[in-house]
Amino acid sequence: MTELTRRTILAGTAAVVAGSSGSIPTQAAAPPAGKQAPGFYRYKVGSHEVTVLTDGARSFQLTESYVTNAPIAEVRKALAEAYLPPDKMIHHYAPIVINSGAKLILIDTGSGPGALKQTNGELGQLPQNLAAAGIKLTDIDAVVISHFHGDHVNGLLDESNKLAFPNAEVLVPATEWKFWMDDGEMSRASKGRMEDLFKNNRRIFDALGRKVTQYEWNKELAPGLVPIATVGHSIGHTSYVLASGAAKLYIQSDVTNNPDLFARHPDWSANFDQDGPQAIATRRKVYDMLVAEKMLVQGFHYPFPSLAHVEKSGSGYREIPVPWSPTI
Ligand SMILES: [Zn+2]
Repeated sequence: MTELTRRTILAGTAAVVAGSSGSIPTQAAAPPAGKQAPGFYRYKVGSHEVTVLTDGARSFQLTESYVTNAPIAEVRKALAEAYLPPDKMIHHYAPIVINSGAKLILIDTGSGPGALKQTNGELGQLPQNLAAAGIKLTDIDAVVISHFHGDHVNGLLDESNKLAFPNAEVLVPATEWKFWMDDGEMSRASKGRMEDLFKNNRRIFDALGRKVTQYEWNKELAPGLVPIATVGHSIGHTSYVLASGAAKLYIQSDVTNNPDLFARHPDWSANFDQDGPQAIATRRKVYDMLVAEKMLVQGFHYPFPSLAHVEKSGSGYREIPVPWSPTI
C-alpha cells in the first residue's frame, strides 16, 4: 500500500498538471451551467411532509457592530473555526412549506421577488424554488409569519406589491402585530433600522388591507402545529413545534442566526436582536430543551437545508446537520 504523505500527494498533483496539456481536453464539450440548482429539500415529520426552500444567501463585510458584546477578533476566530472567511458574514434564508394533508402552510416568506433584482439574484429566490418544487403560489392555503422583519414578511408581496399568495390566510403573532402596528410605538422608534422596520411593516400590511388573522401562543394553528413564544429577537418572536405521532420538529425561526456564531456562542448578541439579554436567555432555554429532547431543529438562518440536531459543546452548542436523504 502506498503511504500517502503531503509530499507524495503534491508530487502526484504536479504530475497530473504536467500531463494535462497532452491528454486531458482543456474544454468540456458542454458549456458550464453557470448557475446553482434549484434549492428545495423534503422530509417527513410523521404524516406531515415538509419542503424546505432556500430564499438565497447574502454575504457582507463583518463590522465591529455586528456582534454587540464580543470583540471582532473573537468573531473572526469563530468564523475561521467554521472554515468561513473571517472578514465576511453570511446570512442564509430558508422558509418551509408544511403539507399537513389538508393544507399547504408556508412559514415565513423570505425577502420577496423584488429583492432578486436588488441583490443580483442572491435573495428573493423563494417563488422560483416553489415553482421548481411543483408548488404553485395559488396553492398556498396559509402563510404563517414568525416575526415582522423584512426577510420574513417582504415576500407576502410580489414585484408589483400585490398579494404573492392570493388564496392564503395570513397568520401573525398577536404580540408582534400589536407592537409593530401601534402608532405610539412607531413614534417612539429609534431612527434608522427600527423606524425603517415600522415603515416597512405598514407598507406590507397596508397592501394586504391589514387583513390578517392574529394568533396566540400555545394554541394550535393547524393539526400538530403549535406556536411557541421565543421572544428577544423581536418582541413577539415565535417558534413552532410540529408534531405527528411520535415525530417532533422544532421550527426555531430566528432563535439563532448563523449557528456557526450564535449556537457556538449563545451569549453573543447580534445587533438585530431587539432585546439582547432576553434573546440570550431564550436561546439557552430552547437549546437546552433541544439537547435534552434530542429534537430535530429547522433553522430559518441555518445553512440550507437548515435541518439539524444540536448537542452541548463547550459553553455553547454545536449543530449536527441531518444528512441528505434521497428518499422521504
Ligand atoms: Zn430573520
